[in-house]
Amino acid sequence: MQTEVAIIGAGPAGASAAYSLSLKGIKNVLIDRKKTIGFPVQCAEFVSRNINQFINLTKIPAAINQKVGFMDIDTGRNLYRFDGKGYMLNRDIFDDYIAKLAVKAGTNLIKRTNILKINAGGNRISGVDISDNNKPVEITYGYLIIAAGPQNSFDLHDKFEPGLKNKSYVFATQVKADLLKVEGLDSAICYFRPYIPYGYGWVFPKGKFANVGIGIEKPKVNMPLSSSLNNFLNEIRNKGLIGFNIYGKTSGLIPVSGLNNLCFGNIALCGDAAGLTHPVTGAGILSAVISGSLLGDYIAKSLRSSSNLLEEYKEEIESIFRKPLSVASRKRCELYPLMTDEESIDKTVKSLWPSFEEYYG
Ligand SMILES: Cc1cc2nc3c(=O)[nH]c(=O)nc-3n(C[C@H](O)[C@H](O)[C@H](O)COP(=O)(O)OP(=O)(O)OC[C@H]3O[C@@H](n4cnc5c(N)ncnc54)[C@H](O)[C@@H]3O)c2cc1C
Repeated sequence: MQTEVAIIGAGPAGASAAYSLSLKGIKNVLIDRKKTIGFPVQCAEFVSRNINQFINLTKIPAAINQKVGFMDIDTGRNLYRFDGKGYMLNRDIFDDYIAKLAVKAGTNLIKRTNILKINAGGNRISGVDISDNNKPVEITYGYLIIAAGPQNSFDLHDKFEPGLKNKSYVFATQVKADLLKVEGLDSAICYFRPYIPYGYGWVFPKGKFANVGIGIEKPKVNMPLSSSLNNFLNEIRNKGLIGFNIYGKTSGLIPVSGLNNLCFGNIALCGDAAGLTHPVTGAGILSAVISGSLLGDYIAKSLRSSSNLLEEYKEEIESIFRKPLSVASRKRCELYPLMTDEESIDKTVKSLWPSFEEYYG
């Protein structure tokens, strides 16, 4: 198969790129190993209301589980409340919606295909069709977008430059539980605790349920995720916030090392693959949509003008994200080691979490 643009990964980054390419009449193939786009969900599902500037959520009410008004930071000593207007998504519906927009606009979506190899010199990607006995698949491209999420699993060709992979991760695990204090809970609560080192715990409300999880940075911390999660569940159960039933468990990686090298030759990265997740908050949905859409635009312009404009994509992304991400990355490294007990957490979190004024001091 041959295409102007091949996109690996149909998460919010890849699907947004595909949509913006298709809107401009560029032939593109969007490939994902998943059978159902957006499923399984590996996300706490909070997104700020700024998402509406890029994807009009009012048009997809089914993707909104509930609105959120506040972001609460619980340090064990104090509870700090901030404006945190946004949404709790149904991520599966959200991701599927963007992919469907792209398909409607002309994208060729190929599911259940696992890309294993990139031959950068030959402008070729290859992999297997999982739905057809692992039949080999090969696609030749003009431009390639890597939107494959936090962890590149490709057999990287030696033409690749260094700096294309995320260097460090928060390992996160989450359960769905009954939310007992339903009334009035329109805040996303983040908990900083000594037993969740180099990370935090969260209770994000979804109507009668909540996404409850923890993330800790490995290998900095040699603690089993399950013991940190169990401590957390016990604490918030004792507070009467959630019940004992667990309806599902998910785990995933959150890149926390900041921006990667965004492009080389005719290949570019967006979303988590580009290291665009915020290294302190872990938020990455919005930046995936922004970077994917921009990348689609730049590649469309490149194809129209027959000149490679990926360096301009890189410059634009760097001008938006480089500083905030590198500040957050540095703060992770400098401040988490100081947060060893409730008192030090309460003091230090103000310089760590971007909702506090002290963060910018
Ligand atoms: C536990 C957890 C909680 C989170 N909570 C939040 C939150 O509340 N708010 C927020 O903003 N962000 C959150 N994030 C981060 C957010 O989920 C990501 O930033 C976002 O999904 C990035 O989108 P993406 O399109 O770059 O990557 P992804 O959503 O990871 O999509 C990548 C896609 O590529 C496909 N793929 C990968 N490799 C291949 C391959 N070789 N061949 C074919 N297909 C491939 C995958 O199947 C996947 O569909 C959380 C992350 C985790 C792990």
